[in-house]
Amino acid sequence: MNTAMLIGSKFEAGTEAEETVLNPRTGATILNLPEASPAQIDAAVAAAETAYASWSRTTPAQRSVYLLKIAERIEAEAAEFAALEAQNCGKPINAVLNDEIPAIVDCYRFFAGAVRTMPGQVAGEYLPGHTSMIRRDPIGVVASIAPWNYPLMMMAWKLAPAIGGGNTVVFKPSEQTPLTALKLAKILADVLPEGVVNLVLGRGETVGNTLINHPKVNMISITGDVATGKKVLQAAAKTVKRTHLELGGKAPVIVFDDADLDAVVNGLRAFGYYNAGQDCTAACRIYAGDKIYDRLVADLTSAVATIRYDKADDTDNEIGPLISRRQRDRVASFVERASELKHIEITTGGKPGDGKGFYYQPTVVAGALQQDEIVRREVFGPVVSVTRFSNVDDAVAWANDSDYGLASSVWTRDVSRAMATAARLQYGCTWINTHFMLTNEMPHGGLKQSGYGKDMSLYALEDYTAVRHVMVAHG
Ligand code: NAD
Repeated sequence: MNTAMLIGSKFEAGTEAEETVLNPRTGATILNLPEASPAQIDAAVAAAETAYASWSRTTPAQRSVYLLKIAERIEAEAAEFAALEAQNCGKPINAVLNDEIPAIVDCYRFFAGAVRTMPGQVAGEYLPGHTSMIRRDPIGVVASIAPWNYPLMMMAWKLAPAIGGGNTVVFKPSEQTPLTALKLAKILADVLPEGVVNLVLGRGETVGNTLINHPKVNMISITGDVATGKKVLQAAAKTVKRTHLELGGKAPVIVFDDADLDAVVNGLRAFGYYNAGQDCTAACRIYAGDKIYDRLVADLTSAVATIRYDKADDTDNEIGPLISRRQRDRVASFVERASELKHIEITTGGKPGDGKGFYYQPTVVAGALQQDEIVRREVFGPVVSVTRFSNVDDAVAWANDSDYGLASSVWTRDVSRAMATAARLQYGCTWINTHFMLTNEMPHGGLKQSGYGKDMSLYALEDYTAVRHVMVAHG
């Protein structure tokens, strides 16, 4: 397995302190990886800058071929990628193989097509005797920084539009989940010209911080915590770098009394707990109408109690553990504090798993009120709260009463009510009678403190390119 960073065309180990990479299913150490030194980060940025001169002048058709090759190689090695991601994140291997890898491959393929069909305003004589045209040009060196919840997918979301748009990249995976990035680096070195993508390893406060403050970096793209996004903005202000921020979420789910209860329960069982709830769009904050509330809590409780999460045979698991002991303890402390409130009932789960690994039981927190911490803060674990509402204005006001603005959903059989409610929600995405479904043609990104900038879709290509006006005077 490759354990070296990619700097230009060279694979080299970091020269700084080692970080331990764990298997969350067992807590065992997989390996230790040294961090990049400041000189190695400089070298990676310099390699990206050098590569930019020629890469930015390739045609969309040429870049499209490269993206298609990356897709093909990931697809050909899907089993190995899935095994590594499962080992490093604790995800059930079938979830990686059947859900994530096809979406990752499709992301590179989508952008391979999209870069060849960028839309825009038509050229013309907007002033007499002058022809104006709009160009969309790359931005330069992009520092891309990824979180631990979907390592290979976040890499695809960041790399495909960035290099597809003609930029070059220095990529830093999460220090907790670098394994699939290291494997992909080998493929990228085979497929791409030298320096188009570089990989550096290390923690946020060291390597990430050096990267976002680097004067030769023109754009920072980060997916992570809101607090990290704020640090990126401070760093970016120094040299006015472009930023693309995908930060946290706390998705509200409004369930009206007329909703199809079975569909709601199946949806919440799947989309509230997928990836052990370590998902910024997780359906974690339920607002249920007065008449459906009791049945919803009862049925959801029974359904969630059947989620398979710590079976010895991994192919039998639906979800895995949390990423780390720290994250598991953080989730446990949210639930403990919630359970101390008189109005709250933990109807299933509520405890760490038995035995090894960073497991937490799939949990339902019923009777939660809008002001409760469990309703307001991102837990990022297999925990769903349910709050009762009696009129639509309250439900919409509570849903919008959040620092976050990434994803939301509305469940009802009444199309007019669904559309009217969706229109009032301040979220980057609102699903109706579903949740969590993403497709590479459609944008993903937030409002408010969930950040700004879109992943996937033509909107991502817009974010990774700059609009320029060229005007010709011809009398
Ligand atoms: P995190 O912010 O701790 O880390 C994310 C990345 O940023 C890591 O690579 C980390 O090393 C780096 N980093 C941390 N501090 C840094 C600094 N000072 N300078 C530069 N880089 C720094 O987040 P995490 O714990 O890895 O991921 C979980 C968070 O990510 C959650 O809040 C979740 O909601 C969010 N997330 C958002 C989306 C989205 O699309 N909006 C998607 C996935 C995850």
